[in-house]
Amino acid sequence: MSRMTSAVIPEEFAQRHCPSCGKPLTLNQCSDSRAICLVCTNDHRFYVLPDAPLAAESAKAGLMQLPQLKSAPPEAIASYWLSDPAARFILNEQLADLLRTILDAHVAPCDPEFSFCPFCGLAFAEFEQPDIWVRGLACSDGHVFSTRGNKLATTVDGKRLTFHSEHSFAAMKALITGWLKPDPRLEAQLHESIRFVLLSSRFCRPDVSSV
Ligand SMILES: [Zn+2]
Ligand SMILES: [Zn+2]
Repeated sequence: MSRMTSAVIPEEFAQRHCPSCGKPLTLNQCSDSRAICLVCTNDHRFYVLPDAPLAAESAKAGLMQLPQLKSAPPEAIASYWLSDPAARFILNEQLADLLRTILDAHVAPCDPEFSFCPFCGLAFAEFEQPDIWVRGLACSDGHVFSTRGNKLATTVDGKRLTFHSEHSFAAMKALITGWLKPDPRLEAQLHESIRFVLLSSRFCRPDVSSV
C-alpha cells in the first residue's frame, strides 16, 4: 500500500481561488480519505485529489471479498470504500466521486465551468495543445492546466494535482446509469456492495427529478 497517498495542497495554492467564480476557497469536511474538499462562498465545491489508481488496480475491486458489508446500510458501505486504505487504493476514480457525492448529500446546482485559475484567481484562456482528449487552460500569470469532464489538472513540482468539481444531479443520474449497464470492463471495477449503494441512492429513484 505504499502508493496510497492523500492529496497535498502545494504552496502555490495558498490563496485558493474558486475555478468557477474566482472567490476564495476554504477547507471543508470531506468523507473521502484521499481528497481535500474546498468550498467557496457561492457554495461551489471542489475536491483536490492525487493520481487516480491504475486501471489494473481498480479492475481488482469487483472481486474483493468483503463479507462484513453484506448487510451493511448504503452509508456504511460508501464510507468503508472511501476510508479503508486497501479499498480506497483500488477504487475507480469516478466511483469515488459518486460515493463521495452520495455520502456528502450535496450536488452542484449545474455543471460547473472552469473559468478562473485556482492558484491566482486570474481568468483562464483556452490554448491549443496536442492532446485531443483535453482542453488546455492557462492564466496570464503562466499557470497551465488541462481539463476534461469534471476534472481540472496541473503538475506542481513533478506531482499531478487534480481538482474534481462536484457533479450536478443530472450528471450523477447519467453517470450512475452508465455504471449499471452490463459491461465486463465496468463490472470488474464495480463491487456488488457499490452497485447496491448506487441503486439505493436518490439518483436512481425514477420519481425524483431534482434535489
Ligand atoms: Zn465559486
Ligand atoms: Zn494563475
